[in-house]
Amino acid sequence: MEPEFQIIGGGLIGLSTAYALLKRGASVRVIEARESVALETSFANAGMVHASLADPWNGPGVGWQMLGSLIGVKSPMTLRLKTLPSLTGWGLKFLKHATPSRHWRATQANYQLAEYSAALIHTWRHALNIQDDFQGLGLLKIFRQQAALDKAALISDKLCSLGLRAEYLSGSAAAQKEPCLAPIADKLVGAIYYPDDYKADAYSFCRALEQAVIKLGGEILINTKVLSLREQNARITGARTSAKDLQADTTIIAAGARSTNLLRPLGICLHVRPVKGYSLSFENVKGPRLPVVDDGQHCAVTSLGQVIRIAGTAEITGFDTSLPRSRLMPLLTMLREVYPALAQNLSLEDGKAWQGFRPVSADGIPCIGMVKPGLAINTGHGHMGWTLSAGSGALLADILRAKPTKIDSTPFRLNRT
Ligand SMILES: Cc1cc2nc3c(=O)[nH]c(=O)nc-3n(C[C@H](O)[C@H](O)[C@H](O)COP(=O)(O)OP(=O)(O)OC[C@H]3O[C@@H](n4cnc5c(N)ncnc54)[C@H](O)[C@@H]3O)c2cc1C
Repeated sequence: MEPEFQIIGGGLIGLSTAYALLKRGASVRVIEARESVALETSFANAGMVHASLADPWNGPGVGWQMLGSLIGVKSPMTLRLKTLPSLTGWGLKFLKHATPSRHWRATQANYQLAEYSAALIHTWRHALNIQDDFQGLGLLKIFRQQAALDKAALISDKLCSLGLRAEYLSGSAAAQKEPCLAPIADKLVGAIYYPDDYKADAYSFCRALEQAVIKLGGEILINTKVLSLREQNARITGARTSAKDLQADTTIIAAGARSTNLLRPLGICLHVRPVKGYSLSFENVKGPRLPVVDDGQHCAVTSLGQVIRIAGTAEITGFDTSLPRSRLMPLLTMLREVYPALAQNLSLEDGKAWQGFRPVSADGIPCIGMVKPGLAINTGHGHMGWTLSAGSGALLADILRAKPTKIDSTPFRLNRT
């Protein structure tokens, strides 16, 4: 028998949606192109669940930064010339939304979803007894320049009006919270501590959700790539895959940054593009307790169990899967700058390098909801996909089961302006 719902993509978002739907009594199939679930962007991310970072990356001024990166100016977001033609619609919208009022509107929407989601991830972790190296001691953002601290404090103060808790610290107070920072305490102009953020391994969470989905009667098809969607009388009836045609009442696209390509043949324009990031993981290193973010560089250092991971950079370069030394070395340099004592004996060759494509929407808000009869979407979570995963799954599941949603779903609909 065909399931009520089939989900394209077995990453954080697809699996969360599957689990949430099954918990609401639906029948579900997940279709995953790779040889296992969560091998793409959900595999080795920075491992932080951070409602505090709800602000999209297209803050005011981002346009100049990106243009500067084209001529070699150091910028947290790097644009590659070859990708410019494929970015026209998305790029213009990305810049259009970089005004203070639009940016704040998007930040608020993300924060509401993040707060809901972070609590739900906890609930699922407890209910399923998930072992994902969770540690709930908070997150520390460190600053070396006063201007960067002032800018972050502006957003932070506004988020505090929505319920975020934040503490402003001097460099030495930051080193008391995280003793591994002691060697660089005098180089910091300050730090912001977010006690409610936490760290956990997204990949382990995904594997546990995979088991839960199967246990609840869901089907997970791996090595099965969706080639196109099938449409009949203006309704999506299923998908044509590398294995066979698969029907369902409703097909849900949760294919991360690759979702855009699945919608294009239907004449539906999804403003989501890949923004590449990298991570380097070093095993058997006893790392710091707290995840630390250097927001100016979009970089974070997290220790997960016996692994210390440095993750970050944001590069608009299409689906280029290369792992160039020139992009990985700055991560190691940053690790050395944050934790000189820990990193002094580590070399690039000691680390496991990884890259992933953040599915970044032009306005910085994910797209969650119905697209047309028989078709729904859950993608565009950008730098927040781990944080927003459970909440996005549950929100879409409630919409699809016609149940009251726990938060307002209107900011996330596809046809917002
Ligand atoms: C360096 C880095 C650090 C990050 N750190 C954090 C963090 O600390 N906290 C946080 O909240 N977020 C973080 N993120 C963001 C987060 O990892 C992503 O937003 C999230 O993984 C996206 O999940 P997804 O399920 O949408 O996409 P994916 O994980 O990419 O899953 C999509 C799945 O769809 C499958 N698929 C694609 N096309 C098809 C097809 N045609 N047919 C079948 N299957 C298909 C893919 O194989 C893939 O498995 C980070 C991202 C990066 C790159």
